[in-house]
Amino acid sequence: MSVALTDVDVESLADRLRAAGCVPSHARRLLRNYYDNSGAVDWQSIDVGKHVRSLFENAIAQRQSQLLTRHVSSDGTSKLLIQFAAGGAVESVLMPSYRPDRAAGCVSSQIGCAMGCDFCASTKNGLERNLTAGEIVEQFLHLRAEAAAMGRRLTSLVFMGMGEPMLNLPNVSAAIRRIASAEMGALGWRQITVSTVGIVPGIDALADTGLNVHLALSLHAPDDATRATLVPMNRRYPVAEIIKAAQRFQERIGRVPTIEYCLLAGVNDTDEHAEKLAALMQGFRAHVNLIPYNPIGVGISGRAYERPSTDRIARFTQILREAGVVTHARDTRGDDVNAACGQLRQAVLIP
Ligand code: SAH
Repeated sequence: MSVALTDVDVESLADRLRAAGCVPSHARRLLRNYYDNSGAVDWQSIDVGKHVRSLFENAIAQRQSQLLTRHVSSDGTSKLLIQFAAGGAVESVLMPSYRPDRAAGCVSSQIGCAMGCDFCASTKNGLERNLTAGEIVEQFLHLRAEAAAMGRRLTSLVFMGMGEPMLNLPNVSAAIRRIASAEMGALGWRQITVSTVGIVPGIDALADTGLNVHLALSLHAPDDATRATLVPMNRRYPVAEIIKAAQRFQERIGRVPTIEYCLLAGVNDTDEHAEKLAALMQGFRAHVNLIPYNPIGVGISGRAYERPSTDRIARFTQILREAGVVTHARDTRGDDVNAACGQLRQAVLIP
């Protein structure tokens, strides 16, 4: 029986065991053991009988990915280049928390990205393929092992790496179920965030799955004219539609969404943009997360962007706060090893 355990859940493994004439209830114990051991079954510590062991021991493809390189930033952020047995590689990032015992992980949902956002490196070479659920879970396991090696626990996971999660939703949601299930990843729903460029049917479909996760919406501009120059998908799903979709998500799931806003000097960072954003947020209980631009070289359009000054970021923040909008400016992490937001790309290209 050849099966990668990151590719199955309790039910499907139980079916396989049953079909092989084994006791199906061993599925739960096998998976718990596998995840507790960072992606390898510790046969010494689990008694599932000789039959199951002989079936699985040699035949399990224990991992379907391999950690190729690790770049550690001066701030402790660790960028992992993970190669998949099925081909291709992605980057995943581990960010130590200010709390000494915790860390946050960032995973990719696709190899490359088709969205074409002008200020993001992940899309420069287009989309190569969707990741499978198992390949997403593999990133989680690598990040968790990496956190453990630092003496930390992985306490949150964001889908803010390479790719658009909503365009790979069946695999993203299957991965989340495994990462959040008690016998597998055991991460809580509220520790998981799915970030989207604003694919309206995807946001509704994520609510339909019943996964009780956080939603982050990458807005980047309060008006269609500005947003369309940055995010090509805005032509399909304009600002008003994506905000409504985030509000529907909030009504159904009951969690406060995050509005991501990448601040680009002279492009979307004026007082007028801040005022428009504040107006857009009235009556919408969401938090704004300002992300100062991390350099990626020229965008697809040929335009080069810059990060606003510290004063500009402070003023933008102040306008929103004075209008009653809960606003945070995100700390830049890992930019010295190109591990910061927007800097992840088809990792094989990176030194
Ligand atoms: N496709 C999804 C998830 C990946 S992007 C989405 O669009 O939400 C994750 C975050 O990185 C987004 O909020 C995006 O705004 C931010 N980002 C992209 N490029 C960036 C850059 N160069 N500097 C800072 N943040 C960037």
